[in-house]
Amino acid sequence: MSVKARRRMTAQMDRAARVCARQGAQLTPLRRHVLGLILEVGAPLTAYQLLDRLKLTHKGAAPPTIYRALDFLMEQHLVHKIERLNAFVPCVEAGHRHPAQFLICCQCGVVSEIENRAAANALEHAAEQEGFRPRNTVVEIEGVCAACFRPS
Ligand SMILES: [Zn+2]
Ligand SMILES: [Zn+2]
Repeated sequence: MSVKARRRMTAQMDRAARVCARQGAQLTPLRRHVLGLILEVGAPLTAYQLLDRLKLTHKGAAPPTIYRALDFLMEQHLVHKIERLNAFVPCVEAGHRHPAQFLICCQCGVVSEIENRAAANALEHAAEQEGFRPRNTVVEIEGVCAACFRPS
């Protein structure tokens, strides 16, 4: 990891700590460490992949350790769970609940988060037309990312 990337990561974690403090919650060293693991990799990780990495520094870590940390990070809107992959990614807009769309590349596995308010509004509107009250509009889109796409 480059110095620049490491510095950016530290800034993201400091920002996360402030987000938590604002909510009266505490980003404990363990929670901060788990967030760091998610930020560091830049690809979606499952809870067990995270646990394996956590065990390198926290020998006694067990599944509940990682699940509790992940629950906390999701509650604070610092990470998202990609249901389709059963894996976790950092939130680009860390700190508040927001409608999100995820672009999942089937070839390289990269997930990028976009926040298209118009798309989210359109979906919410469509739901409301059915008399449905949407609470959380998250869309996962599978396909091929720009880097992997080769026009024939
Ligand atoms: Zn997000
Ligand atoms: Zn790709």
